[in-house]
Amino acid sequence: MNETVRSAWYWNRDFGLYTRQPAPRLDRPTTACRVLDLPDALLREAVATHEAGHAVLALHLGARLTCVSVADDLGRGPGAPGPVGRVDYEPNPAEPVRGILLASAAGERAQDRWLRQADLWTEDRAWVVEILAAQDRAVIERTVRLAHPDGPTYGVGDDPAVDLAALHDYVDVWLRDLWDQVMVLAAALNRCGTLTGAQAAAAIGLTVNDGTSASGVAA
Ligand SMILES: [Zn+2]
Repeated sequence: MNETVRSAWYWNRDFGLYTRQPAPRLDRPTTACRVLDLPDALLREAVATHEAGHAVLALHLGARLTCVSVADDLGRGPGAPGPVGRVDYEPNPAEPVRGILLASAAGERAQDRWLRQADLWTEDRAWVVEILAAQDRAVIERTVRLAHPDGPTYGVGDDPAVDLAALHDYVDVWLRDLWDQVMVLAAALNRCGTLTGAQAAAAIGLTVNDGTSASGVAA
C-alpha cells in the first residue's frame, strides 16, 4: 500500500477519535453546540444536510432506505439528550461494505461542505462536525475491520476501504457531483422532519429500488 502521508490528523484522547481538524483551545468545559455557535434554524439546516448526505449516497449505491429524519428538538430532550437525526437503510447486498463506508462518511462530509458553502466554516466548527459524527466513525471502523483487522488508517494511504482521509476524498467527489440532490433533500427534510425512503427518493427524482414508484414529499 502507498504510505504517503496525505494529511495530518489529530488524536482526541477525550473522545477516542482522530480528527482532521485540531481540537479548539477552550478556557472552560463547554458543549459541542456552544462551539458550533449556530442559531437553531441554521443548526437544523446543518443536521438536515448531514442526514441528506447519508441518504443521497445510500440511495445512489442501491440501498433500501426506510426513513430519514431530523429531530424536532435537535436532540436536546426533554430528558436525556437524544440523536439529532437518523437514517435507516439496508445497504445494497451486492456491495454492502462499499455502501456502508460511503454512506457513513457522507454525513459529516456533507455538513463540512455546507459550512463552507454558507461561509460558516471555521476549524472549530469543522472539528465539532467530526466529533458529532463519532457514531458514523464507529460504523466505519467496524466495517473496515471486517477485511482489515488492524482497523482504519488516517491520512497515510490511498485506499478508501482502509484510510479515512482517502475515504473522505472519495466521498467528497460523490458529494460534489450529487450536491444539488443533497441540497434538495436537506430542504425537504428541514420542512418535513421525517421522510420515508420513497419520499426521499422522490424528492431527488429517483425511483426506489424495490420497483415501486415514489409517491412524493408530504407538504
Ligand atoms: Zn451521521
